Amino acid sequence: MKIAMIGTGYVGLVSGVCFSDFGHDVICVDKDPRKIETLRAGGVPIYEPGLDLLMAKNVESGRLSFTTNLQEAVDGADAVFIAVGTPTRRGDGHADLTFVMKAAEEIAQALTGYAVVVTKSTVPVGTNRQVKETIARANPKADFDVASNPEFLREGAAIDDFMRPDRIVVGVQNDRAAEVMSEIYRPLYLRDFPILTTDLESAEMIKYAANAFLATKITFINEIAALCERTGADVKLVSQGMGLDGRIGNKFLHAGPGYGGSCFPKDTKALARIGQEYGLPMQITETVIKVNEETRRRMVDKVADMLDGKIAGKTIAVLGVTFKPNTDDMREAPSLTVIPALIGGGAKVRAVDPQGHREAVDLLPGVNWLDDAYEAAKDADALVILTEWNEFRALDLKRLAEGMHFAALADLRNIYSSRDAKRAGFKRYVSVGRTDFV
Ligand code: NAD
Repeated sequence: MKIAMIGTGYVGLVSGVCFSDFGHDVICVDKDPRKIETLRAGGVPIYEPGLDLLMAKNVESGRLSFTTNLQEAVDGADAVFIAVGTPTRRGDGHADLTFVMKAAEEIAQALTGYAVVVTKSTVPVGTNRQVKETIARANPKADFDVASNPEFLREGAAIDDFMRPDRIVVGVQNDRAAEVMSEIYRPLYLRDFPILTTDLESAEMIKYAANAFLATKITFINEIAALCERTGADVKLVSQGMGLDGRIGNKFLHAGPGYGGSCFPKDTKALARIGQEYGLPMQITETVIKVNEETRRRMVDKVADMLDGKIAGKTIAVLGVTFKPNTDDMREAPSLTVIPALIGGGAKVRAVDPQGHREAVDLLPGVNWLDDAYEAAKDADALVILTEWNEFRALDLKRLAEGMHFAALADLRNIYSSRDAKRAGFKRYVSVGRTDFV
């Protein structure tokens, strides 16, 4: 199959690289010339474990290339994937479809023979029909079908998720498009990964429903964590006890500083908006959005309470700023709420992040960036763990505590325990949903 991939962000680049690894000929397009220059020079513009090697292998084989010229990529393609961003539209929470529709118009002009135009971006119900209308209007002679193929990969584990998915969802309107899609995914289909073929609307809805459900699960345990703190229960044990129930499962039950990232915040808002538009408010999702915001704010209070409410003039070292480990993605990261609040309260903030520094530097003005947790903790009044990078999972707590001016630890990912912290010489320790000492 010949595939054109429009957009080389986290989803487009990973999908393009993996499709070429399946044996397809893939041309990836981006309108950002710097990204294409980097890719052509063998560099990867994002941090995603394993992507550099897989990309190099497939470029070498001649199956993968990069261009800014959409026409060149679409010419003769069997499938054209749209994997551009769908951020939250300012003001109303709706998914901003500007990039998707612009891409559809450009594709319309570039189509030469029959192709399936596949939307991989997360888009509200009805968007694929709109894409179809847009293309037909821009080029009435175009011979094409549309397909919805939402992506479920997680940043940080994207290649494995793409190559070993729980399921592939394909929304189509006819057999011709379904055949092209099953040919593209044949290598996975042969290895028994389930492909669910649906209509366009169901495929679009599956993506939002799945993300909102996962966001709900995280938020639920965060709310239970808050109650655990009041009642003396330990949320880690509660999660374990709940997760062992096969009907619940243990994933997405880790209490923490609230969900973030490029998907859950915007997709929950978009789903809430879709509900409002159809006169059926998504009450659970709306509450989840509210509780998640409260959870983030609660983290700031936790750090402040640990320091007896006095953060002005204190030096606070933050470990991890990306929204989760193994990515450089800063979109909607809890650090973007917590750090400005600490700085706003008069604290001096230092931060360390294995990959996020470059993305974060402009988003978090006033932060002093350091390379190492021990260096950051030196003479500090508090240490705050915000992202559970592996580097921060096995720290020498004694060494950290000894170097600090005042040994206080806010472990907002529940990596350590109150006992570990006390033994290491910390004077204060707070975590999420457990009994701490302050
Ligand atoms: P991103 O912002 O990282 O990348 C989008 C890319 O598209 C950018 O490089 C941009 O320059 C390019 N682009 C925009 N318009 C273009 C055009 N007309 N022609 C060529 N290139 C164009 O976005 P992302 O994180 O990869 O997300 C893409 C979509 O996938 C979103 O809808 C998102 O919700 C969805 N999604 C993301 C993830 C994730 O983990 N990031 C997971 C599943 C689904």
